[in-house]
Formats: sequence, structure tokens, C-alpha cells
Amino acid sequence: MMPGEHTRSVHTPDVPVPDQRPMGLPVYRTAAWAFGTADEYRDLLNGTRTGYSYSRIDNPTCDAFAQGVAALEGVNVEGPVHGQPFASGMAAISTVLMTLTRSGAHVVCPREVYGGTYGLLTTVLDRFGVETTFVDSTDLDAVRAALRPETTVVWGETIANPTMTVADLPGLAALAHEAGATFVVDSTFASPAICRPLEHGADIVVHSATKYIGGHSDVTGGVALGSPELMGRVRHDRIDLGGSLSPDDAFLLHRGLATLPLRVARQCASALAVATGLLDHPAVARVDHPGLTGHRDHGLAVKLFDEGRYGAVVTVTPRGGREASVALCDRLRLIRVATSLGGTHSLVSHVASTTHRQLDAAALAAAGIGAGAVRISVGLEDPEDLVADVVQALDTL
Ligand SMILES: *Cc1c(COP(=O)(O)O)cnc(C)c1O
Repeated sequence: MMPGEHTRSVHTPDVPVPDQRPMGLPVYRTAAWAFGTADEYRDLLNGTRTGYSYSRIDNPTCDAFAQGVAALEGVNVEGPVHGQPFASGMAAISTVLMTLTRSGAHVVCPREVYGGTYGLLTTVLDRFGVETTFVDSTDLDAVRAALRPETTVVWGETIANPTMTVADLPGLAALAHEAGATFVVDSTFASPAICRPLEHGADIVVHSATKYIGGHSDVTGGVALGSPELMGRVRHDRIDLGGSLSPDDAFLLHRGLATLPLRVARQCASALAVATGLLDHPAVARVDHPGLTGHRDHGLAVKLFDEGRYGAVVTVTPRGGREASVALCDRLRLIRVATSLGGTHSLVSHVASTTHRQLDAAALAAAGIGAGAVRISVGLEDPEDLVADVVQALDTL
């Protein structure tokens, strides 16, 4: 008997899966996978058979993206590096922190940490009995003093926003490991095209792939990287917490990888040109960028970063406090006021009222963040046009 209209609509004819390698990454836009038999399904769940069952658990497009980042992060690392894909940087960060902590555990974290991570530690994990000490992580003695027997995580950021503080990765790794803690590094501002923290002692690297890795401001995603053992534990908790990446977004993030080193190298060179071009402007009180020889962490950046790549974010503090900084943002013509960073377009934001709004005045001061700091994420435009845009805005102050 010919199946009915609805059945034929649902069960369209199978087309054979080609056994050729496509040049583009296939997007497996499916929630679930079919099995030949009920036993195959059982065996997959038991772990006696490999494959896919449900895309919150694993999806080949998402795996291709995460393994692509792992191949970039793990080049000079002994032993295999695995990646776990996430729907956002915060999904990666929250899952990793929950994997590594329990009620009664303690975290040591830099004071100028990304606002979302600060909020997670102080308002969410705090409710579950995880305590965090925020320290000046440039002072290794302060980090050592903060460590406790119950410290399970030392957190770091390769480049911290907006002061562009560079983490002493080998120093922090040694302290964490002495204390038996896991050293986790948020390397979003660096990307593997500048620095690979696993080479310098980090146990886990996390990224907001929304930024440089995706690189086009059109997708959110995250990724965690580390040993197969650690990533197995992170995967287990990702599955239960549910922050899994969608295959469509994984496609865009994977596409970003092909041009990551090209984009980042150019963005870094342009950022250094912008930082240098603004240093002597009479309306400028301070420029923070690790590529400047006057930056406190320039030496560390030379040691840990690939040659000539110091990051592509420049923080400018004009004279005249908060009002002058807000005016600077508003008077830029080419550079747009927007959150996020790492994309093709240069973006600007006033730090104290945006990315670090979770920090109160005391926390801002402790982290060395001035009320007037303005963060510029340098994109792919011509650097002369970017310098000219900031200079014309500064000239009006
Ligand atoms: C943006 C960002 C995050 C959060 O990533 P999302 O993709 O927005 O969730 C975490 N850390 C740093 C340093 C970031 O810049």
C-alpha cells in the first residue's frame, strides 16, 4: 500500500551519505540520530559503542569546531589536547567552574576578571558555598597568600580587560600546582594566535569564541580545552548543565578559524599603531596596551606572546574623567559604540558603565580601573583611518 500524504511528507526518500570529503564543513542540523537496532542505542549509552545519539550530548559539527581550536592551542603541548564546545563563553566558564568546585571549595581569581565571571563567582557559585578571593594577580606573593587547603581553582586571564594586564602564566601555574589546584586561563583576549597558555602551565583554557575565534560579531560560542581526562569531566557536566553549542553556530565559529591568525596579526599591528598614535595627544591621560614599551607587563608579553602580537584592544583614558570619556565614545565616527570585541569592525565602550558594571566603585578602584577608561577593540579597517577617527574625537574634548 502506498503510504499516506503525511507519512510521505515526514519520511522523505533517503539519499545516500556521500563517501567523498566535502570542502565545506557539513552542518549536522539534527537533534537526534537514528540507530539500526535498539541494542545499538543501548550500547552507545553504555559507552561500548561510539557514535552520536542526541546533539546536546555530542554533534560532529560542534566537535569539528572544538577539535579545530584544540589543534591551535595544543601545538607545543605534550600529550593530546581535547576541546569541548559551548553555546557561549559563559557556558564554558560556568561549566568548568562547576566541574572543578563543590560546596566548601575556594577559588583564587584576579580582581580585574571579566565582569560575567565576577558575577558568576560572587552571585551564583557563592550561593552554592563556593568562596572566591579576588587578588592582585600581578603580585605572586598575594596569590600565594590567598591559597588555602580547600582552593581547587586558580583563575587567570591571559590579557585582562581593560588594564591589559598580562598574566604571569608560568608563575601562577607553579603556585596553583603547589597548592594542588587546577589552573584555568580565560584566553579570550589573546586567542591561540597570540598565546597558548597550555604551553605555559595552564591545565584548562577557556575562550569566548564570540570574540576573535568567530571574529565577525555574528555568533556566540565558547570552548574549553585541556587533557582528555579533564575534558571528559567537563563534557559530563556540560551534558547535564546543557550549555551545548548549536551546529549552525559551530559552522560559523569553525569558519572563523581559517582566518584567525591572519585577522589577529593584522588587528594586533593596527592596535599597536592606534596605541602609539594616541600616546602624545594632549587630551590623553593614559594609554594601556601591552605592546607599548611603557606598559608594566610589556616584558611578560614579549616572553609569552608570539612576536609582534600584543593583543588588539587598546584602552584610552582621556583627561576629564567620566564625562570626557563618554564624549569621546559619542564623537567617534568610524568606530562604533558596541559591546564585544574581536570582530571585523572596530568597537568602543566606556568600561565602568558597561563591561565592568558588576564591580562597585571600591572593586573598580582595587582593580585599577579608572572611571574614564575607554576600551577600543581594533578591527580590520585601515589603521590610519582608526587613528584619525580617535584623534578627531579627542580634538573636540
Ligand atoms: C566576552 C567574554 C566572556 C564571555 O563570553 P560570552 O561568549 O559573551 O559568553 C568571557 N571572558 C572574556 C574575557 C570575555 O571577553
